[in-house]
Amino acid sequence: LRVRFRIGGMMSALAGRRTEIEAVSGVGFTLERGQTLALVGESGSGKTTLARAVDGLQPAASGSIRFEGRELRDLPKKDWKPLRRKMSMMFQDPVGSLSPRLSVRSLLAEPFAIHGLSGRSLEAEVERLLALVGLPRDFADRYPHQLSGGQARRVGVARAVALDPELIIADEPTAGLDASIQGEVLNLLNDLRDRMGLSMLIITHNLHVVRQIADRMAVMYLGRFVEEGETEAIFRAPHHPYTAALLSANPEPDPDKVHNRIALPAEVPSLLDRPSGCEFHTRCPFAQAICRTQAPAPSPVGSSRLTCHFPLNAGPSAVEAIAAS
Ligand code: SF4
Repeated sequence: LRVRFRIGGMMSALAGRRTEIEAVSGVGFTLERGQTLALVGESGSGKTTLARAVDGLQPAASGSIRFEGRELRDLPKKDWKPLRRKMSMMFQDPVGSLSPRLSVRSLLAEPFAIHGLSGRSLEAEVERLLALVGLPRDFADRYPHQLSGGQARRVGVARAVALDPELIIADEPTAGLDASIQGEVLNLLNDLRDRMGLSMLIITHNLHVVRQIADRMAVMYLGRFVEEGETEAIFRAPHHPYTAALLSANPEPDPDKVHNRIALPAEVPSLLDRPSGCEFHTRCPFAQAICRTQAPAPSPVGSSRLTCHFPLNAGPSAVEAIAAS
């Protein structure tokens, strides 16, 4: 999948008179029913753009997005409405994403009204949803400004699951919450996923969140996946230097699992002026001459797929296979 943005004026001049930049560059993944995939990376890595493209909020320039076998790319707007029941998006700011003028009752009833399901007993649905996310019944009369961040997030989760979706896309689901509340929200999402058979696509830069919730993770850099695989395997032995650097910067409660700190020397390059060869070479402590001129192809290492000429912890045969590819 590729996603491009039009640019003009000064940006175009900085980009050598190009009129487009590519924010998502040829990524591909499969998300199975009941699985959670986390998209991880620094700001500007393309993770939110990718999630918005999957949810039809951002047009894709090329590629394919299939949901339950149906092609979604270039789907007319009118065909999206029934799909919105099956794909639900949770936005980042727990309180700010709730309309301040609506009570919790109205906020929870809104998805049913939007989809013409007002005939149901809405009071019963509101009660059901409050119970599902562990909030007392009398919270129905509260307004968003009367909720804590954690309570607002629970209301957001209740709205997201109201119509029994197949897929939830959640942008930083624990942003702005205290660590203990973050744990509660993640437990709630895990519990709902198991009970409802949900699939989840999580966007986050918080590696604690990834480890608690995601079966698989994809690490993004400048719009590409640099490493994708099973979360636990990657946490145990990251193969891409960028993944290793992210993990090493992540305070790890278990002292046996502390990764040696890998400090990244330079700022993230601009999409207007992508580095040659491996685009991570300007920051990679392990870069060699070939990295500056030749882009590595995606290759399997263990249970992961990654793009690096010299993967870490990979063993000599894997390195040779990648060098030959
Ligand atoms: Fe570093 Fe080279 Fe691997 Fe890129 S290809 S991540 S520069 S070692």
